[in-house]
Amino acid sequence: MCIFCKIASGEIPSAKVYENEFCVAFKDINPQAPVHILLIPKAHIESVNQINEENANIVCELMKAIPEIASSIPELKDGYRVISNCGKNAGQTVFHLHFHILGGKEMNEHII
Ligand code: AMP
Ligand code: ZN
Repeated sequence: MCIFCKIASGEIPSAKVYENEFCVAFKDINPQAPVHILLIPKAHIESVNQINEENANIVCELMKAIPEIASSIPELKDGYRVISNCGKNAGQTVFHLHFHILGGKEMNEHII
């Protein structure tokens, strides 16, 4: 089982901020912004590259969870950024699909 599967199952502890039938959101252990949340599916999907017709409903559930999570965190009320690193060149280090939700400060216009 990969590290995020273990976080999803509770085998590895995390600072959870949200959970539903399909996904879990928790604080990134190495935050890059005042608020840095990771949103993951409970099912193991490697990356954006593995999104397909069969798992699209899960991904849709993740997308729907984002505004719910954001609205529960006051520091995100003025906006936030959602990022998913896919593959080596993007610097993906954990090969279980995840969306970074970053905010709590004004970010510049550059993504990289
Ligand atoms: P990426 O580089 O896009 O694959 O992002 C992986 C992220 O997972 C990094 O921001 C790490 O800080 C974070 N991370 C790795 N292990 C843990 C963990 N046990 N709990 C919380 N965040 C983690
Ligand atoms: Zn996994």
